[in-house]
Amino acid sequence: MISIIGAGPAGSYLAYLLAKKGEKVNLYEEHSVVGSPIQCTGITTSSLKGILDMDHDFVLNKAKYARIFSPNNNFIEIKLNKSNYVFDRDRFDRYIANLAVNEGAKLHLKSRYNGCSNNGKMKIKINNGFRETDILVGADGPFSSVAKTNGMFNNRNFVYGIQARCNTKCDEEKIDFYLGYGCFGWVVPENNKIARIGVAEYNNSTKDFERLLKLRNATIINYQSGMIPVYDPNVITTKNNVYLIGDSATQVKATTYGGIIQGLLAAKEMTKSFSDYDKNWRKAIGRDLLVGLYARKVMDKFNEKDYNEFVDLFSQDKLKKILEENDRDYIAKFAFKLFIKEPRLLKFLKYLFFN
Ligand SMILES: Cc1cc2nc3c(=O)[nH]c(=O)nc-3n(C[C@H](O)[C@H](O)[C@H](O)COP(=O)(O)OP(=O)(O)OC[C@H]3O[C@@H](n4cnc5c(N)ncnc54)[C@H](O)[C@@H]3O)c2cc1C
Repeated sequence: MISIIGAGPAGSYLAYLLAKKGEKVNLYEEHSVVGSPIQCTGITTSSLKGILDMDHDFVLNKAKYARIFSPNNNFIEIKLNKSNYVFDRDRFDRYIANLAVNEGAKLHLKSRYNGCSNNGKMKIKINNGFRETDILVGADGPFSSVAKTNGMFNNRNFVYGIQARCNTKCDEEKIDFYLGYGCFGWVVPENNKIARIGVAEYNNSTKDFERLLKLRNATIINYQSGMIPVYDPNVITTKNNVYLIGDSATQVKATTYGGIIQGLLAAKEMTKSFSDYDKNWRKAIGRDLLVGLYARKVMDKFNEKDYNEFVDLFSQDKLKKILEENDRDYIAKFAFKLFIKEPRLLKFLKYLFFN
């Protein structure tokens, strides 16, 4: 028996894959419905199509361009080699949970994991009752109770994802990133009138978020904020028969703070082998997560002048081409090429070592 805590994308996809393989799976979700509350922008690269069938009505928009703005309002426009998906996150989550249920996984709603005991046979506490299990998987998000109750949480860092769905004038073909707003800001259109606008911040100040709303002349429809774990290369993801996946394992890109695809890819690795999971997920996505973490560490030290210069350098065709031809989920594949094509980028690496 395998017990998975959390019916987010990572937990439900894992439940689906394991049930399809013939395993007995219980999927526990504390909320009364899957997919709520929404705390996500719901954008991914086209790589998602290689994992899930995306021909569904939860896809609201397909963006063809990404623009990156510097503080002096210059920008580069990158034509995405394949459109990015903008989707309804709640319907997306429910779609994956249904895949799991259709393969025979048992979904238990209003079922909160409250700890476990392991005296020979592992027992997990769901609400007020205990249930036996052979394997326990924490897919329970950034503040994973499974990690906390099994000594796997350690010291983690988080960023605040301050986001709202807004009325604003936008171009539905273009996603916009703003440098110099917290870690960065974003405007992701659902259509030409509504966008998800947000800022990632190390503290919960809304100053940059408000600045971005003002810049885009936006009015809030509703908030969709949440916490995002910063990737920790030393994270423990396997301990006895307890495993962590997705946000609970900090499997999130520090460049754009996207974690949906990474959680799904990790689920594939866990399905192949529990015993080799830790080694295998690191092999599959660890290098990209690590390069992304270094890129974030460098950019966190940028001042306004650095951002302006950075965007100027990337407006050269030779660099734009590399961005256009590559998928941002796989940064390790092309980061080196950028430095070869434009050695002036190397100067920013000083921030890895000095302030
Ligand atoms: C503002 C914001 C914007 C983002 N935008 C993007 C984006 O555009 N693209 C992208 O790829 N990523 C984005 N992310 C990150 C993305 O949301 C996460 O990486 C992703 O949701 C992780 O999926 P998960 O299944 O690991 O965890 P979650 O989606 O957090 O799911 C965990 C589930 O576990 C349940 N749970 C928690 N505790 C318990 C418990 N004790 N018992 C039972 N159930 C429990 C929760 O209710 C939840 O359903 C964003 C995050 C934020 C905050």
